[in-house]
Amino acid sequence: MKILKFGGTSVGSAERMRALAGLINDGAPKIVVLSAMAGTTNALVEIAGAVCAGERVKAEGLIGALEEKYSAVAAELYGRGETLAGGKELLASRFAELRALAAGPFTGKEERAVLAQGELLSTGLFQLLLEEGKIDSVLLPALAFMRIDADGEPAMAYIEAEAGKELAKHPGKELFITQGYICRNPAGEIDNLKRGGSDYTATILGAAIRAEEIQIWTDIDGMHNNDPRVVEGTSPIAELSFDEAAELAYFGAKILHPTCILPAQLRNVPVRLLNTMQPAARGTLITERTAGDQIKAVAAKDGITAIKIKSGRMLLAYGFLRAVFGIFERYKTPIDMITTSEVAVSLTIDDTKNLDAIVRELKGFCSVEVDYGLTIVCVVGSFTAEKEGYALKIFEAMKNIPIRMISYGGSENNVSVLVKTERKSEALLALNKGLF
Ligand code: ADP
Ligand code: ASP
Ligand code: MG
Repeated sequence: MKILKFGGTSVGSAERMRALAGLINDGAPKIVVLSAMAGTTNALVEIAGAVCAGERVKAEGLIGALEEKYSAVAAELYGRGETLAGGKELLASRFAELRALAAGPFTGKEERAVLAQGELLSTGLFQLLLEEGKIDSVLLPALAFMRIDADGEPAMAYIEAEAGKELAKHPGKELFITQGYICRNPAGEIDNLKRGGSDYTATILGAAIRAEEIQIWTDIDGMHNNDPRVVEGTSPIAELSFDEAAELAYFGAKILHPTCILPAQLRNVPVRLLNTMQPAARGTLITERTAGDQIKAVAAKDGITAIKIKSGRMLLAYGFLRAVFGIFERYKTPIDMITTSEVAVSLTIDDTKNLDAIVRELKGFCSVEVDYGLTIVCVVGSFTAEKEGYALKIFEAMKNIPIRMISYGGSENNVSVLVKTERKSEALLALNKGLF
């Protein structure tokens, strides 16, 4: 069994959905994970924002506009009146739910239920299209088996057991459709795997059922060696190791959800990145294999905050770092980069939810400076310590860009450099020129 995940643009219009139905209808057993249609989750975020702000009229306007868009898609999607009637029924019930959520008391729970509507809509519409085309498929409700634990991590044992039970309800079936992104939390409420989370659904599910392969289908022909949104003339990478792909995803290569590689890596399930617009393109294959001794790609992660912590007593003061890290651990705030000198330590975070409290506690025993508006530029490949010249190449390329922090040697796969966000594009372009 393979898992095939299709992103927002791959289901972004009636035409794309029809093309997708053709693409997956090849007789091979598979679970198809779908995102919401492109733009829908953003629209739902906006609707939730309006409701939160008490702007109910604005929210109703946005819901109405979204409903019109979907009505037009349904009208274009189906060839038979009977299927269109089914589609209209689906839209009516989903939009009634959306309106009910927007009208009632609105807490985080209702907000997350609003955000879940996109994937429920896309999978429902697509399943009807398959039924109309007499393509035998089963719509699996992701909310019945996808679950996160209290730390927001996938509850793997639960998912494995429950997904198995759901599949076992349909003996002899070979094509399953399910929602990406959405799940339940330990309270049983509707939740999600964070933006871009459909990739994560695919790899979690792929690991859970020990799939033969996980395919992430999107609008580009694989992982490119630099950010194609910033740099022109980037090219796809044929093969990456799990470690390399995980670094690129975590440090900003938007083609993959930041943490989606791990489940596949833990169960050693290959991940293939493919292009829906160009199905014959080779794409990128991600496996445990490492090509070795190469700089492969550059990515950038914005929204980084640096914290410089200085202790007069740090000299020889073992225990200082433990005290510092203990605070970040208590506030469940991951640290991305870290550098130390004899008297100071600088580190970066991207989750600033608890920054004020963290700074307050740090100030109890050291001086603290906070810098905002930073970007981690991350160079990924295989950097064996024996091979000379990598650092020179990277910093020669970046010679005109002020650097706030450098991290080299943490792993064999990554050199990270912290720059001001306003210099990001320049840094990516310079590295492209210098490295590839
Ligand atoms: P989907 O909706 O299918 O999940 P995304 O927009 O999340 O698609 O991811 C695909 C996009 O990721 C591409 O269109 C591209 O602009 C962007 N992207 C950023 N960095 C990279 C990279 N290194 N390689 C390929 N695509 C990248
Ligand atoms: N629809 C969700 C989002 O836009 C999940 C995804 O597309 O992967 O973030
Ligand atoms: Mg995505």
